[in-house]
Amino acid sequence: MRASIRLTSLAVFLPLALHAQSRTVSDAVRPFVSVEADLVALTHVRLVDGTGAAPRSDQTIVIDGEGIIAVGNAGDVRIPAGAEEIDLSGHTVIPGIIGLHDHMYYSSVGGSMKFMPFSYPRLFLGNGVTTIRTTGSVATYDELNLRAVIERGEAIGPEIYVTGPYLQGGDLSGLRMHPVAGPEDARRMVRYWAEEGVGWFKAYNQISRAELGAAIDEAHKHGVKVTAHLCSVGFREAVALGIDNLEHGLLTNSEYWPGKQPDACPAVPSTAMYGELDVASDAVQQTIREMVANDVSMTSTLAVMELSSPSRVPVDQRVLDALFPAARASVSNYYEQGRTSDDEMSVRVLQKAMQFERDFVRAGGLLGAGSDPCCVSAMAGFADQRNYELLLEAGFLPETAVQIMTLNGARILGAGDRIGSIEPGKQADLVVIRGDPTTTPGDIRNVVTVFRRGIGFDSAKLIESVNGQVGIR
Ligand SMILES: [Zn+2]
Repeated sequence: MRASIRLTSLAVFLPLALHAQSRTVSDAVRPFVSVEADLVALTHVRLVDGTGAAPRSDQTIVIDGEGIIAVGNAGDVRIPAGAEEIDLSGHTVIPGIIGLHDHMYYSSVGGSMKFMPFSYPRLFLGNGVTTIRTTGSVATYDELNLRAVIERGEAIGPEIYVTGPYLQGGDLSGLRMHPVAGPEDARRMVRYWAEEGVGWFKAYNQISRAELGAAIDEAHKHGVKVTAHLCSVGFREAVALGIDNLEHGLLTNSEYWPGKQPDACPAVPSTAMYGELDVASDAVQQTIREMVANDVSMTSTLAVMELSSPSRVPVDQRVLDALFPAARASVSNYYEQGRTSDDEMSVRVLQKAMQFERDFVRAGGLLGAGSDPCCVSAMAGFADQRNYELLLEAGFLPETAVQIMTLNGARILGAGDRIGSIEPGKQADLVVIRGDPTTTPGDIRNVVTVFRRGIGFDSAKLIESVNGQVGIR
């Protein structure tokens, strides 16, 4: 009986798997597809290829099926017979964004950490984010299943690197997390979810060194990596425990707090401490040196960090349009109050965080980026685009900001050979942008077409299709 059921399931699912390989577009996806040809030539583009190389004008990119087969100067690249040629004069092409801290949930008056399986995948893809790591999951099976239906071509969205449930100790954490009760419990949790297929874990702000060390050890035994948004444990302690990546940067490193107790968050949080911190000091630079020496990468999340400085958060009408009415009113109010907010210290703190990221990269650190689209105006895709402007403000060149948001993220995921840059042999994940974000940063929002695995999606249609839905589904 059991055997026959299994055979039946195979018979049903095998063709679906092959279906995805042949990149056929399903009926659910087709209304959003604008380029479906097998052979496509994008001509006369300004290219920022993700490797950190300077922007190049008048380039031709040839896509065959799921892959990029040629990139070069117009005139040097032969356009194959039968290719659909798209003249992109006046446009810029960047690799698909790799969102390294891109949750599939949003918190609003509609609910805390609410899973967004409908709106978020469309907003990510529509805004040019072709790959995400969820970096803290409260609906892990949902994320694994969503990943599977997207890969089958039955739903629209980015490729998802699913992260296990938060590794968080302490209290019941808003009812969304299992409270880790000791090192053995941490190992048990990691083992279970590693076997279920997650590739990453995120430790959270209440965890002991013993629990974190056990989780890292168990994860590595299963070929799984660990990142963290820390508080109770300092960065250097986590580096010594063998962590792979650290989220958010300076403002989640508690080790500079005077009187910090081991395994505990500082008792009286105050932005002032970071505002007064000398990033050039030996204590801070030592953290950076130890991270770099131990190959610990970092995720920049400037867009969500900026939320603490509401006076400088730009009003994004697209964010308001995407929200359901009650949440729209709440975010609208946030924007409104922000205009007159007295947040001078928070602004200074944000600048320190930018300096820390700049120094980390200068020291040879591998920096990726993610939007942390958790709440308020930090929303899927839109916040990833805001990151680009903030990385420029932090002092990175446009091509370096693009590299941080693309190839660096791919390398952190261990997928740098497949995605993250526009080069022959890479998967055809790329973003067509009207204008030139290298000279006009805000142009990063003018996404026209997003290619994922060689299929071009209509950005405007994807974004429009979720109007009024964020916060609900
Ligand atoms: Zn987060």
